[in-house]
Amino acid sequence: MPDIIKLLPESVANQIAAGEVIQRPASVIKELVENAIDAGGKTIKIIIKDSGRTLIQVIDNGTGMSGTDARMAFERHATSKIRKADDLFAIRSMGFRGEALASIAAIAEVTIQTRRIEDEIGEEITLRATEVISQENVACVQGTSISVKNLFFNVPARRKFLKSESYEFRLIISEIHRVALSFPEVEFKLQHNGTEVFQLTPCNHKQRIVQLFGKNINQQLIDIKTNTTLVKINGFIGKPGNAKKNQGEQFFFVNNRFMRHPYFHKAIMNAYNRLLPADSIPSYFIWLEVDPGNIDVNIHPTKTEIKFEDEQAIWQILNATTKEALGKFNVAPSIDFNTEPAIEIPVLTKDTQFRMPSVNINPDFNPFDIEDEKSKNKQASVDYFKRSNLSNWEALYSGFENENAIQPEIKTEKLFNENTDQPSLLINLIQLKGKYILSPVRSGLMIIDQKRAHERILYEKYLKILEGTIHVTQQTLFPQVIELNATDHTFLMEYIDVINQSGFDIRDFGNNSVVVNGCPAEIPDANPKELVERMLEEMHHQPPQQTGKTKEYLAGLLCKASAIPYGKTLTIDEIHDFVDNLFACGNHNFSPDGKSVISIISMEELEKKMK
Ligand code: ADP
Ligand code: MG
Repeated sequence: MPDIIKLLPESVANQIAAGEVIQRPASVIKELVENAIDAGGKTIKIIIKDSGRTLIQVIDNGTGMSGTDARMAFERHATSKIRKADDLFAIRSMGFRGEALASIAAIAEVTIQTRRIEDEIGEEITLRATEVISQENVACVQGTSISVKNLFFNVPARRKFLKSESYEFRLIISEIHRVALSFPEVEFKLQHNGTEVFQLTPCNHKQRIVQLFGKNINQQLIDIKTNTTLVKINGFIGKPGNAKKNQGEQFFFVNNRFMRHPYFHKAIMNAYNRLLPADSIPSYFIWLEVDPGNIDVNIHPTKTEIKFEDEQAIWQILNATTKEALGKFNVAPSIDFNTEPAIEIPVLTKDTQFRMPSVNINPDFNPFDIEDEKSKNKQASVDYFKRSNLSNWEALYSGFENENAIQPEIKTEKLFNENTDQPSLLINLIQLKGKYILSPVRSGLMIIDQKRAHERILYEKYLKILEGTIHVTQQTLFPQVIELNATDHTFLMEYIDVINQSGFDIRDFGNNSVVVNGCPAEIPDANPKELVERMLEEMHHQPPQQTGKTKEYLAGLLCKASAIPYGKTLTIDEIHDFVDNLFACGNHNFSPDGKSVISIISMEELEKKMK
């Protein structure tokens, strides 16, 4: 039998390679725009027809290429960006694999016009399915223009696989968003079927986000920033209340390259933890800067999956930075209270004597050193979290090795609440039909849902009890026996230790029954039998998931079971206590299962009703 292995013709090899890099029009745009950025283009114009099926053209004012380079650029593995294997670990450019242009030219009709500043005349080359059709000198402006026509004309399967125009267009837009966010200093213009879609003028990161996602997003963003030896983090996260049910505004960039990173995504989600309504995802725009030697960009042809050497440490830093930013945000009340200014601003006269304000900072303060922390000035812990430059990140990281490291954060929140003492500003509180608490606020009328608010208060309390942060006193009772069915009994027994840790004293009594000897003293008028039954009923509504979040789960059940029901009339003092406790919560806007606790009817709405 003759030998059967042959080298593939270049055009076929290129076509195969194209399958990996170029899946659709959006991938062509990504590659061409990245090339334009690598060439130092400051204005990039993208022209498309029929969502890229008929035409994709990218014009830049970057360095341009010599005639020889322009021809060479279409060879496979031809790149000016790396020379040796070592260079792979110092990549600063968007491209480096040298396969984009070769791939595109294998599956379309491509024309390039390019001129360098030092050349008088430019070069124009046309290729079709890898074959050079023409090459000649042309007069053209400095920079490069590449047009790609009839994409996949020779790969019918691929062409058929393209989805509707609007779908492909959406993907193109989202691809452009990614580069546009990475390089706000670059101007981008997009034209589709002869109409201008947008023009993004050079600006900073935040302005670019607003250019792309609209003015409203501006008030929804919280700054995040950290500077450690391992990673620099910059960017914005969305306020919890603006989180959406669908994905779309989650962006990670590393060294200005957009990346997907499910593991880091979890670091963010974990930081929001209890602040979000169920199933919603916050927006975030986060730029990481790391030493290029510590990441591997080359694990996937489209370079959106990136391997980090110090993944776990960066996870911790991201998580802590996000928590810190959210902590600061929670401090600023989202409600403007309708009262006189809390602070008197003295009127100055010429004779007024000034005293410079002084701030007491303890530079040795280590928030993770719990013992030390207790004895030191509380202000120091606030300042620690205000400091954006955590050059001593190792302390931050090592602190997270034990659970107690979470403590300083809780402290900070509490401290702020004590300091600002917002709730006592609310004086006019009335209860409506045993269901709502109403109070005038500056922007209108604030309505608090009594039951949901109580669930939130109890949830945070139970969680702290279960986490061992606060201790609970137990009320001993005349023992009560509760008969259960086998399922409920099994469930209760599974969680009995944790439940008892929260102030109950429940024991197995044989034959699917239990005996309740004690209840948390914190629950007023508790009827233990009813409480346990309600908790078990709640469990049927929200069965335990294997998420390992036992404490959160139980706190959720317990708060539902023990929150005051609608219809209960509260005394004036109780209402005040209630509101005070609500505003002392880490998140007073949502009940633990994501329902709104507070709503404000604006003056405009009220006035409309009165018309
Ligand atoms: P890579 O970007 O991985 O190097 P490409 O196939 O995308 O590979 O491009 C090959 C080479 O062509 C680049 O390394 C660069 O030198 C040159 N090139 C491509 N596009 C441009 C452009 N718009 N302006 C200047 N040079 C370019
Ligand atoms: Mg490239």
